[in-house]
Amino acid sequence: MTNTPLNTAAVMFITPRPELVMVQGEGSWLTDQNGKRYLDFMQGWAVNCLGHANPGMIAALNSQAKLLISPSPAFYNEPMLRLANLLTAHSCFDKVFFANSGAEANEGAIKLARKWGQLNKAGAFEIITFDHGFHGRTLATMSASGKPGWDSMFAPQVAGFPKANLNDLSSVIACITDNTVAVMVEPVQGEGGVIPCTPEFMQNLRQLTQERNILLIVDEVQSGSGRTGSLFAYEQFGIKPDIMTLGKGIGGGVPLAALLATDAVACFVAGNQGGTYNGNPLMTAVGISVVEQLLAPQFLAQVQAKGELLRNELRQLVAEFQLEGERGMGLLRALMLGREIGPKLVEMARDQNPVGLLINSPQPDLLRFMPALNTSDDDIRLMASMLRGLLKQLA
Ligand code: PMP
Repeated sequence: MTNTPLNTAAVMFITPRPELVMVQGEGSWLTDQNGKRYLDFMQGWAVNCLGHANPGMIAALNSQAKLLISPSPAFYNEPMLRLANLLTAHSCFDKVFFANSGAEANEGAIKLARKWGQLNKAGAFEIITFDHGFHGRTLATMSASGKPGWDSMFAPQVAGFPKANLNDLSSVIACITDNTVAVMVEPVQGEGGVIPCTPEFMQNLRQLTQERNILLIVDEVQSGSGRTGSLFAYEQFGIKPDIMTLGKGIGGGVPLAALLATDAVACFVAGNQGGTYNGNPLMTAVGISVVEQLLAPQFLAQVQAKGELLRNELRQLVAEFQLEGERGMGLLRALMLGREIGPKLVEMARDQNPVGLLINSPQPDLLRFMPALNTSDDDIRLMASMLRGLLKQLA
């Protein structure tokens, strides 16, 4: 593979990509086609929660591949049942539907809420979502998202997603009508710039939705699966939502997502929901390995400790370079730069030699960090010192 000429023309353009081909990963490190190594603090956008080439996941993949890859979704399979039971045992939910991507899990959540509205609220169908929220790239989840420009990109939108402002309960109240069936919120807005909900907002939102007979959906595609230092971020707010969606980290890098609901809300009847790969044993077997590793003694405590370390390292950079600040929960954190130098820093970090650094900039004035949850303290310090070098160059 070394120095293979790149022929990228056959891949449909969706985004500018550097002329790099990634060929191998191990833990917090990625290697490209020329053998250059990169310290990976993106990890597939918070996907590889256990880093690259995690031995437990590889063992689960190998043994399940030999046993059974796809019996068809018409039948139960063992990994599907085991993972569903693991997730319900460690959450406030009773039922799980497995999907392949975060967007698909969210589509399922939207459908479930609308179905519940048909049965329980005279056909109420509106789901209040938030400005700068991100829920996926299908038409309904784009409509649910509050990303600027997305309202007109593939117009007309799917109707029924009024927008409120995060951490502003009165803006939610202003959106409520007789047609409101649910509120859908990210406990930490990821793509919007790593903006956590405040505990008061989340608790008041839960109380409000309960009082008004409105469902609360938490989109934990990015914040779930140990990322914030608890198995699910909602736990840290002391609330119990009605519906939760998972993606990214739950599969540790393989396409696995989940829609979870309480018994009171799980009202699909035959024909309402499905999908060829739902509950696929190859993916759910990996999900079991991921969740078991997240639940191992001390693992989540270590995520919290590493989150503190990353926070302290970022705070030092804030002080040294008079940046705006840092924020986040656990190992989902952002450095607010105060200037729109994020994309430039991402490029400089990647292109530096001999070793590159992979970070990302979901908004031009900030950097986002989503390392493997089992990354080492040394890697966190190395990342901060590499970033320090780049900030010095820019100063
Ligand atoms: N919800 C949230 C909160 C996300 O961050 C994302 C992905 N960035 C999605 C949904 C969509 O997930 P996927 O790309 O797997 O469809």
